[in-house]
Amino acid sequence: MKKAFSTETQTNRNRVYRLVYQRGNISKPEIASYLGISLPTVIKNVKSLQQEGLLQEGVVLESTGGRKATAVTFIKNAKFAIGTDIEQNHISIALINLATEIIESIRIEKTYENTSAYYLEVVRLIKQLVGISGVREDAILGAGFSIPGILTRDGQMLVYSHVLQVSALQCSTISRGLHYSTILSNDANAAGIAETWQRKSQENAVYLSLSDYVGGAIFLNDQLYLGENQRGGEFGHMTLVRDGLPCYCGRKGCIDAYCSAQVLSKHTGGDLGAFFRGLKAGDKSLQTVWEQYLSYLTTAINNLVVPFDCTVILGGYLGEYLEPYIDEIRRSVAGVTTFLGNEDYITPCTYTKEASAVGAALLYIRPFIKQL
Ligand SMILES: [Zn+2]
Repeated sequence: MKKAFSTETQTNRNRVYRLVYQRGNISKPEIASYLGISLPTVIKNVKSLQQEGLLQEGVVLESTGGRKATAVTFIKNAKFAIGTDIEQNHISIALINLATEIIESIRIEKTYENTSAYYLEVVRLIKQLVGISGVREDAILGAGFSIPGILTRDGQMLVYSHVLQVSALQCSTISRGLHYSTILSNDANAAGIAETWQRKSQENAVYLSLSDYVGGAIFLNDQLYLGENQRGGEFGHMTLVRDGLPCYCGRKGCIDAYCSAQVLSKHTGGDLGAFFRGLKAGDKSLQTVWEQYLSYLTTAINNLVVPFDCTVILGGYLGEYLEPYIDEIRRSVAGVTTFLGNEDYITPCTYTKEASAVGAALLYIRPFIKQL
């Protein structure tokens, strides 16, 4: 049963938990010293968190003086969350624990359709995944859904999605039959959440999602910036070439028309992996396509590093393949940017797959840890 805590106690309790979470394991005297609070306060809070099954004691550390100390460790499998990424042609589901480890995941090819049969299948897959994992239902904090589109501020309705050709879709319609708390997130925002959560030390970052559609997310002071209408970070529709190529949004010259993964994969039958294998093998025509793509991507990235002056994470489907080309991309941006040194901010993503599903699950893990 939840106990009532005073604000100060709750703050210390949260600080203790978050410190143990960050360190993995740490002794009680070290916690007291690091947080500048008394040892009895640490002992009291650790005890309360132990009683709730969130922390444990017992791992022995070798201290510098040769003495052994009992460490407090955080129980990563105390709670779990589910993330489901619904895209035009696939569904990905990930069950993660408090350490953001993927316990179970599944990815299936399935074309999106706005029908109850489709949503029933999504829910069936989620239940199947939880069943396989053996995780207790009451240990699941909630189920987040990542979806390409613009959402209401409360994350309970998809206002519209160009990609899925659907509007006014309630979260409850998708999740009917699930007995967890549920919420929606834009897919690029979810992927950005997964990436920035992984890089704990960075408070400001911009995530550029280079999938079949281009999206993005802005993080300021460790918070997702959504703008006034939940459209913040929709980098795909920034104008790259005035009166340029048509974009699926109906306008011309958007970044999406030049930098989506489809711009590359259409040359290899829709297979992005095949494009990069061919490029690596020295295919001349693919090299030409890549150079042209890179020149547009360079402008797009420069248009993000100049105003934001922070880390720019390159993700989406392309993120998986960019590591060998990151120096080339940085050099290319250095060749056009006003402020030299900015190009050091450019980095490939950490998650090669499932970033959006993990990010959707983090919609429950992050607040749990931050507000515990
Ligand atoms: Zn557009």
